[in-house]
Amino acid sequence: MNSAYDRRVAFPSKLGDSTSRQLQNTSPALVVPVGSTEQHGPHLPLDTDTRIATAVAAALVERLGGSADHWLVAPAVGYGASGEHEGFPGTISIGTPVLAELLVEFARSASRWTSRLVFVNGHGGNVDALRRAVGTLRYEGRDAGWCSCSSSNADAHAGHTETSVLLHISPGVVREDQRVPGNRAPLSELMPEMLRGGVAAVSSLGVLGDPTTATAEEGRRIFAEMVDACLGRVIRWAPDQQGMLR
Ligand SMILES: [Zn+2]
Repeated sequence: MNSAYDRRVAFPSKLGDSTSRQLQNTSPALVVPVGSTEQHGPHLPLDTDTRIATAVAAALVERLGGSADHWLVAPAVGYGASGEHEGFPGTISIGTPVLAELLVEFARSASRWTSRLVFVNGHGGNVDALRRAVGTLRYEGRDAGWCSCSSSNADAHAGHTETSVLLHISPGVVREDQRVPGNRAPLSELMPEMLRGGVAAVSSLGVLGDPTTATAEEGRRIFAEMVDACLGRVIRWAPDQQGMLR
C-alpha cells in the first residue's frame, strides 16, 4: 500500500484525533483557533467567530502539510473577551485578564511537547489578551505567535463579511430570512458610544454592517484572503514583541 497514504492515516492533522502515543518522539507546531461565544445578530450563531477561526486554522494546517511531526490543529478556545456584547442573551465573556491567563497556561503546558504555537484569532475583542499572553510567552523564551482572521474592507460585526464567510463554511446555520441591515457607520465613529454602552448602545439588533449583501461566493473569496494572509505571516515568522505575526 502507498506509504504516504499510510502515514496520513497514521498521523492525523487534528490534535483531538491523535493519540498520545502517536505524538511520542515528535515535536509538532500547534495551531490553536481562538474564538468567542457572543451574539451575532438575529441571523448568525453565537459561535460564529469560533467557526471562522477553526476553519481558517484547519485550512492553514492543510496548506502547511499537517501531520503529527509537522503541524496540528488544536480544539478551539471557544470563549473570549466579549464585554461589548454583554446584555444580549447567549453572550458569555470571560474577559481580557482571564483569557490572557488561559492562553499563557495553555501554551506553557502545550510547549512541553510542541515546537511552536500559533493562535488564530477570530474575534477582535481578543486582541488585547493575545498581545498580553503571547508577549509573556515570548519573554519566557517560547516560540509563540498569533494572527487574526482579517480581510480588506471588512465590516465590523455580523455584517457582510462574517455573514458571507458563514454562508461559505457553515451555510446550514445562517438564518437567511432574518438578515437585517445594522448600524453601518464606521467603527471609529461608533467607538465613543460603544465604549460607554457596548454594541447595544449603537445597534439594538447587535449588527454593525449589512448582512443582506452577503453571498457564499463572497464568503469563498474573503475566506481565501483570510487563509492566505495567515499563511504568509506563519511562513515569514516575524513576530513583534507581543507575538503578532507580521
Ligand atoms: Zn464575529
